[in-house]
Amino acid sequence: MTSRGQVSAGDLLELVRSGRATTRGALQQVTGLSRATVGQRLDRLFRAGWLREGAGGPVDSPLGGRPSITLEFDDAHAVVLAADLDTRHARAAVLSLTGEILAEHGGTLIVEDGPEAVLGELGRWFAELLEKAGHHADEVCGIGVAVPGPVDSETGRVVQPPIMPGWDGYDIRGRLARALTEHTGAPRVPVLVDNDANLMAYGEQRVGYPDCSAFVLVKVSTGIGAGVVVDGSVFRGVDGGAGDIGHIRVGADALCRCGSYGCLAAVASGGAVARRLAEAGVRAASGSDVRELLAAGHPEAVGLAREAGRQVGDVLATVVTLLNPGVLMIAGDLAGTPFLTGVRELLYQRALPRSTAHLEIVTSRLGERAGLVGAGALVVEYLYAPERVEERLRALGV
Ligand SMILES: [Zn+2]
Repeated sequence: MTSRGQVSAGDLLELVRSGRATTRGALQQVTGLSRATVGQRLDRLFRAGWLREGAGGPVDSPLGGRPSITLEFDDAHAVVLAADLDTRHARAAVLSLTGEILAEHGGTLIVEDGPEAVLGELGRWFAELLEKAGHHADEVCGIGVAVPGPVDSETGRVVQPPIMPGWDGYDIRGRLARALTEHTGAPRVPVLVDNDANLMAYGEQRVGYPDCSAFVLVKVSTGIGAGVVVDGSVFRGVDGGAGDIGHIRVGADALCRCGSYGCLAAVASGGAVARRLAEAGVRAASGSDVRELLAAGHPEAVGLAREAGRQVGDVLATVVTLLNPGVLMIAGDLAGTPFLTGVRELLYQRALPRSTAHLEIVTSRLGERAGLVGAGALVVEYLYAPERVEERLRALGV
């Protein structure tokens, strides 16, 4: 919003959605636009069904005079679909535009079966979920997908994913859009794909820590990944590689699924702990098995989780020194007291006091829903960004 002439309907919508200006008077004051111009631009948003007058009643106008009616984003005009894929399990949901989960399903979906089968099945889940939520497929404005691998956010394709064989470079967007159309007959919608740790971080930061300007989430399940949210946006780096801490070499000689030796994920992930437990004669094949053993207080699992926490904490000392986050959230199968204790031991020993003085180390608030909430929010922020609103309003004929 550099000059008045360039303040679009999308900019006004953004001001209302963010809560920075929620009355006509406040919009005039923030943008410098005349009452008539604000009115014209808001009319288009009203006609599109994207804005409504608030139920809260009039509030005092910042320009003085009559109290003004508050404006709010009308989330009833569309819904979002979201999916969160893990290696052997997936969750999918229908969400409102403001992030409320309207219908949800979790079940077995094996990433190793390949993208064709997995995404086709997701299309079927989405069709069932829409019916359960009482929404028509025509109401879907977009789909967000979290995947357990590195993603090129420009193309939505995964790039050499160590734990997603057969997915490298696959057109996830195209296949999923087609799957939804096949199962519902609805027109194609935009599909956004991102790494699961990124979307979990995004969901958790928005819901639980909206004022935290530097937020880090570390997911420790089958693999290890981190998501970084800076000033409210996912920080991806130039190639989408930011946060991929699972393949930092920590010097051990264990073979990692990426093909290298000594990666952090090869010694301190849920998969690595499961392997150590199995070697000791305990039945454990995956991160989720370790989660169950930890919940039951299994002593060897507890000891190994704490040790894994120390190894991850050593790497996180560097992460925290570099980024100085306000919140470090530990999520995934290993997130629990033993692992956090290990993280704290090493982190406070190795990081500078100044970078940990105001650091909160916490576990997830949204739990298994974090990736879904983040994926839904990613789609909404994309579709209602000021630069896209104009084009969408024109397509609606308003
Ligand atoms: Zn590796």
